[in-house]
Amino acid sequence: MLSSAWRSVSTSVETNLTAAYFRGSSSATLRCLLRLAAVPSGGGSMQRRFLAVPVCPSLVKLQKLRKVGFRGMHSTLEHVKLEGMEIKILPALQDNYMYLIVDSKTREAAIVDPVEPELVIKTVEEEKVTLNKVLTTHHHWDHAGGNEKLVKLWPKELEVYGGDDRIGALNHKVQQDDSLTIGNLKVRCLSTPCHTTGHICYHVTAADGTGEGAVFTGDTLFQGGCGRFFEGTPEEMYDALCTKLSALPDNTKVFCGHEYTLQNMSFARHVEPDNEIIQQRIEWAKHRRASQDPTVPSTIGEEKTWNPFMRVHEATVQKHAGGATDPISVMGSLRKEKDTFKG
Ligand SMILES: [Zn+2]
Repeated sequence: MLSSAWRSVSTSVETNLTAAYFRGSSSATLRCLLRLAAVPSGGGSMQRRFLAVPVCPSLVKLQKLRKVGFRGMHSTLEHVKLEGMEIKILPALQDNYMYLIVDSKTREAAIVDPVEPELVIKTVEEEKVTLNKVLTTHHHWDHAGGNEKLVKLWPKELEVYGGDDRIGALNHKVQQDDSLTIGNLKVRCLSTPCHTTGHICYHVTAADGTGEGAVFTGDTLFQGGCGRFFEGTPEEMYDALCTKLSALPDNTKVFCGHEYTLQNMSFARHVEPDNEIIQQRIEWAKHRRASQDPTVPSTIGEEKTWNPFMRVHEATVQKHAGGATDPISVMGSLRKEKDTFKG
């Protein structure tokens, strides 16, 4: 048991470390805090977590430490720069991702699936961006569950987008091909019902349409997999993955709703054991996860090479599905198998 005095010191150190991260404090401050954090005590999970932090300044990778979550985040916070935009990857809950999309020119921003509003607000303040939009992929609690709280906590008006009346605080209902902007960035809504009936994916591109663009796929398309068919059919998932999402440029970056890559890739390897690209991605993803780095994003082009649910036209995948040649029955058969697959 931690003594109450030590618990108080630990809490204070953790608070300072977190604050230091969000303030972007100097290396010297962080080194000092880390030494303090590593003071031995009577035991307890708090101490064990801190002792995992290297204290020799020459070995401390400060940039990395500043990005690692301090309250049990499943992944590090990472930033991805694309043409005209920045995407901040924010881990949430056990394996969800929220994404802050920032227009590089105007610094206007939108948040995708803000299930942990406090982290969103801290990031927005740290990055000094103007948040005015919430893009919700679907109504499930682990995606839309923070909307109402964010709207309540945020001092300015927020436009809350989504395709389902079950989404909290929704005030801009959208459907296929509706568009909106984030500063100069263009966003096109793709209706992808199946996981839920009102699921929307958001395709974001630079103002002039150049560059690679990004798509936020919620629980429709995961890296190496797809969401369960809770409210839809194999036909609908085929339309979502193989018609709408496959039609995006191959270099489009895919930001999905969960860190499920290793589990999905294990199933992908089971479907196509001779597909070397899958094996390579598994090795890469293991390496990333060993240091809690996110495996997102992938690209639409990459998904076409390893995601069995986007490869239902391939002879190898069809063979695995018992020789069916109709891609929609292959889709149904793969999903059924994946529902009970133990990698
Ligand atoms: Zn869901």
